[in-house]
Amino acid sequence: MTLANGRRLLAIPGPSAVPDAVLRAMHRAAPDIYQGELPDMMPGLVTDLRAVARTAGHVAIYIANGHGAWEAALANVLAPGDAVLVPATGRFGHGWAEMAAGLGAAPEVLDFGKRSAIDPAQVALRLSQDRAHRIRAVLAVHVDTSTGVRNDIAALRAVLDDLGHPALLMVDCIASLGSDPFEMDGWGADVVVTASQKGLMTPPGLGLVFFNDRADARRGDLRVSRYWDWRPRARPEQFYQYFGGTAPTHHLYGLRAALDLMMAEGVEAIWQRHAVLARAVWAAFDAWGQGGPLELNVPDPGQRSHAVTAVRTGGDLGARLRQWTDERAGVTLGIGLGMVPPGDPGAGGFFRIGHMGHVNAHMVLGTLGAIQAGLVALDIPHGQGALEAAAQVCATA
Ligand SMILES: *Cc1c(COP(=O)(O)O)cnc(C)c1O
Repeated sequence: MTLANGRRLLAIPGPSAVPDAVLRAMHRAAPDIYQGELPDMMPGLVTDLRAVARTAGHVAIYIANGHGAWEAALANVLAPGDAVLVPATGRFGHGWAEMAAGLGAAPEVLDFGKRSAIDPAQVALRLSQDRAHRIRAVLAVHVDTSTGVRNDIAALRAVLDDLGHPALLMVDCIASLGSDPFEMDGWGADVVVTASQKGLMTPPGLGLVFFNDRADARRGDLRVSRYWDWRPRARPEQFYQYFGGTAPTHHLYGLRAALDLMMAEGVEAIWQRHAVLARAVWAAFDAWGQGGPLELNVPDPGQRSHAVTAVRTGGDLGARLRQWTDERAGVTLGIGLGMVPPGDPGAGGFFRIGHMGHVNAHMVLGTLGAIQAGLVALDIPHGQGALEAAAQVCATA
């Protein structure tokens, strides 16, 4: 029978759960965009966004999803023909490279597969061959949401510095910001891209591009399309120019409420919460995997994201399990993404769990409990003690 009626849980890696406080903040009559509360709110919003990204740099906000933020960031620093290096660890690395190609740049992908992090030594080798410094930027995805791989951004900065290579370090933090630890200035990222609907707990619709003065200087006199140009968006006190038109009014109220939650908890406490909940997920899968086909996609825990977990099941077990938890238990798990070519029947052999943003112990333990029930119901072989192991992690954190 179905036990799904009750509050449903969307446990996919974005869009993530939206807090009631964010929903309430958005439920209001249309605000004035020329004066008053909304324009006055902007400088504080920018201050708190900087605190989340750990940067003293600028932040441009676009009415866009993550793909829009990808393009916005690239449009400000690349001219047609520019070479960029893209070390990829999953679908999103390739996607950003395709976006660069679409703008006429010349991306070169270094493919590190789907189960482990970027090897900085190989990036160093490639950059060291670029004596003429033709490569203008390195595009790295911090957490690739398709694979659950988390990359070492500080190590990439060290590679660039050691070689004295001037390429910009541009980082996709769409999945990770506000969940996995990230230090834009401390780790030396020049440009950081994110979006509202993952760790920032706000509905999809805002694309954010953080950039430092170095990136802006490298932009130089490039002709940037009027809408993507980040310069007017570095001045939050000029509200109308900042958005290049009507502001995303309700999203800004939602983001304000989300940032209030984040500031009250503290950025480091948020990172710790995600770290513990991720370990609870891993502990469950370690136990299940002892007696069956379930396997975490990333073998090395040091290379796993705290925001999303990708799981390999083989066959069509991932798809069947997703269907069971969705229909019978009210928990929607994420589909496998980018693991096999489009249309390949093997796609059903993967699933993902989003544990990013507005997520706590009962949500994660509930998700794991639903998976446990699904494994039993579908007669999928699995090891024992998974839920005890996950509870133990939560109990002893
Ligand atoms: C979600 C995501 C994107 C794409 O964002 P959209 O809002 O779907 O365009 C890009 N990169 C990463 C790492 C993501 O997690």
